[in-house]
Amino acid sequence: MYAHPKLPSFRLDGKTALVTGASRGIGMACASALAQAGARVTVAARSRLDLELVCRAIASAGGDAQALILDVTDSERVNSAVIERGPFNILVNSAGCNNPRPMVDVEDRDIDEILTLNVKSTFYMCRAVARGLLQVGQSGSIINISSQMGHVGSHGRTVYCASKHAIEGMTKSLAWELGPQQIRVNTVCPTFIETALTEEMFKRPGFREWVTSKIALNRVGQIEEVMGAIVFLASDASSLMTGSALMLDGGWTAA
Ligand code: NAP
Repeated sequence: MYAHPKLPSFRLDGKTALVTGASRGIGMACASALAQAGARVTVAARSRLDLELVCRAIASAGGDAQALILDVTDSERVNSAVIERGPFNILVNSAGCNNPRPMVDVEDRDIDEILTLNVKSTFYMCRAVARGLLQVGQSGSIINISSQMGHVGSHGRTVYCASKHAIEGMTKSLAWELGPQQIRVNTVCPTFIETALTEEMFKRPGFREWVTSKIALNRVGQIEEVMGAIVFLASDASSLMTGSALMLDGGWTAA
């Protein structure tokens, strides 16, 4: 008689999670997913009102969420907030931005804004959360919201693509550095998802048609479609996975 393998748990009861960019969009869906899987979630962003609404929604669905007003580009505040509220077993870095335009029209301030929020802040968050876990000797899972644009190039997205390719490289290196302490680091790479970030883009004539023509499933994504991947990567169900990219791109990069 062989030892019958037991399905590892997708539950996150007893775990603490921190989600940045959780006041709306993909980050909000990630926070909600982690709370529904049993984690105690801290939702971070700059807008107090939006965070309070998210906490209320999570609580009314039976979850546990606290708001953290935090500008993730402020590394000192990041460090002090994580010391004060941590340690966190799970970190999701979702705060991010884009400002698509032809490269010849990109201004220095666009480069600074995108690289500071998308790359430097992700590093600040990973460093602060890793320090907290190493201090108490606990394992963890860090999930960086990258993009399909971390794997391909695209018109009008030079700086954004650079930032997401940087996230992919950072994630692979973090996986090696933190692996011995059982802190796993992976990315999730969505295609175009309907959020405030993409609302203006979809108003441009022909843009939705161009996007859907590049997606094998022939449609754009919804925030709910990121939730399963987040719970998988946060939980023991993905215990052998680190330094990887989970594509949620409807087939875009399979072309
Ligand atoms: P979104 O709706 O614009 O939400 C961005 C979030 O980031 C908000 O919660 C915002 O909250 C927060 N944020 C912005 N600046 C911040 C700062 N300095 N400090 C703390 N929080 C800050 O964007 P989204 O579509 O959900 O995108 C989330 C992530 O997914 C980004 O990394 C994006 O690159 C990635 N992504 C998006 C798509 C897509 O199609 N939507 C596709 C692939 C990847 P406050 O304004 O309240 O601070």
